[in-house]
Amino acid sequence: MKIVGVLALQGAFIEHVQYVQQCIEKSGYALEVKTVRTPSELSSCDALIIPGGESTAISQIAERNELLGPLQKFVQQPEKAVWGTCAGLIFLASELTNEANLVRNLGCLKVAVKRNAFGRQSHSFVADLDFSSFLPGGEAFPTVFIRAPVVEKILGDDVQVLHSIQSPSGGDLVVAVRQGNVLGTSFHPELADDIRFHDWFLKEFVI
Ligand code: GLN
Repeated sequence: MKIVGVLALQGAFIEHVQYVQQCIEKSGYALEVKTVRTPSELSSCDALIIPGGESTAISQIAERNELLGPLQKFVQQPEKAVWGTCAGLIFLASELTNEANLVRNLGCLKVAVKRNAFGRQSHSFVADLDFSSFLPGGEAFPTVFIRAPVVEKILGDDVQVLHSIQSPSGGDLVVAVRQGNVLGTSFHPELADDIRFHDWFLKEFVI
């Protein structure tokens, strides 16, 4: 039985646990989901979801819990599936283009990320996006952006852009990327009231 860990140091981790659990119950996947707060909990995992929240806090608590080193090793292993949402994407990125005051990034995802790219909390928004190129189910997916980052630069040849949105000032803003077994999304699929994104992650990256 494979184990999906959800990093539970700060932020919206409970929602990820619930969504993965719903996928397991709906489809009978031979998976177990659990929260991760210590190096020994991490060591039993086959996959790791890093939630949204506050990336500065997540990196500080990870350092305090002596998890930074183990997390950096974990995310570098090609056989492990990793997904960072929002603050999780920031934590995974190899470069930050602003507010680079994290203790340390995990640095495995070869992208440059801009934090708070849409402005303050009051500029948070929900957008129905068309992910039909990779997400089964047809209808648009309700994405929640809360002080969300965007990917400003792709730094690795193996990084694939999964989705971009139109910037109000023109041009494209990259909001979902994949690099092998690592997925990064600017938005919060665990707040969408729709488990299709989690189901796709489990099938495509973990099982
Ligand atoms: N702005 C937050 C950060 O920089 C991320 C916000 C989120 O995860 N919703 O960490």
